[in-house]
Amino acid sequence: MHFKDIIGQTTIKNHLIHTVKTGRISHAQLFFGPPGVGKLPLAIAFAQYLSCENPSDNDSCGVCPSCKKFAKFVHPDLHFVFPVIKADNKKPVSDSYIEQWRETLINKPYFTFQQWLEQLESQNKQASIYRDEATEIIRKLSLKTYESEFKTMIIWLPEKMNRTAANKLLKMIEEPPPKTVFLLISEDANSVLPTIFSRTTPVKIPAIDTKELANYLSEKYNIDHAEAMTISRMSRGNFAEARNHLAVSDARKEHLDKMKTWLPAMINKNIAECIEWAENTGALSREIQKGFLIYTLRFFREMLMMRTKNRSLIFLTEEEKEFAGKISHHISLKKIHNIQEQIETAHYHIERNGTSKIILLDLSFNLIRLIQK
Ligand SMILES: [Zn+2]
Repeated sequence: MHFKDIIGQTTIKNHLIHTVKTGRISHAQLFFGPPGVGKLPLAIAFAQYLSCENPSDNDSCGVCPSCKKFAKFVHPDLHFVFPVIKADNKKPVSDSYIEQWRETLINKPYFTFQQWLEQLESQNKQASIYRDEATEIIRKLSLKTYESEFKTMIIWLPEKMNRTAANKLLKMIEEPPPKTVFLLISEDANSVLPTIFSRTTPVKIPAIDTKELANYLSEKYNIDHAEAMTISRMSRGNFAEARNHLAVSDARKEHLDKMKTWLPAMINKNIAECIEWAENTGALSREIQKGFLIYTLRFFREMLMMRTKNRSLIFLTEEEKEFAGKISHHISLKKIHNIQEQIETAHYHIERNGTSKIILLDLSFNLIRLIQK
């Protein structure tokens, strides 16, 4: 993992590189911040930079033997600890699950805790960092480094560490062996045991900058910039969330069917039909509802494009184009900004577990006012 692989986070990258150059690397750091912003990838990139035999001013080289091992997450001086489940035939320590861990890192470096649980096939079993793990950590760090100057111990989600494990580690975290760096990655710093927290240097990792995330999405997934901006804004700098939005936007056929009921009902101010629509849509999963609202945003924007720009620029399927063509002249898009705002607000409330049926009905009433000619 290179610094250049991480989306945005320029300030943090510069800060970390600066600590290496000035020899002021704190021996126990707690990276904390919201999910999906790249805390774990940043920690790995930092560890790789520390171990690189030929680093440049702003990144590891990618070709030295150390970097090559980092690329597969198999460097002997890079250690990972993460929550695991208790299974009959396995010791509940990270090494028992290291293959799944590496695979997940390679395929989806911005994975979430939920995705990790799915990978573990946890089936509602609790995932924690158990006492045996603490013993392993102490054992590993007491050995000499194999190949690098530095040894790095990355602990993902220290808030999942049980008290016994934490107590065993206090001394080690407070006074690690020389050239050992602890990087703790937390999504909920308030739940990290205070005895652990107080022994670390906190490094706050903020949400990814909206523009930087949008640029990345637009380039990587080949979507137009306005759409990338919308997705980025709605994901609030969380790349894992942005990826969800992109995945659900694949369900556009089903979304279009919903749109075909909803838009005419709003144009005709057919309240009964709006109520029925909100009831039906509100009964679906929140993920589908959120996906539909993203789709709606795109649909309105495309209709605006149809009127103002070259038709060939429009990113609609044939069926969508046909429907948009029929309906577009019944709709006023003068207040497109307010329309978008209303949709984004509804998305926000659905995400915050508001009552979907009410939110969707409310949205319908607001849009009826805004789109009337
Ligand atoms: Zn290197």
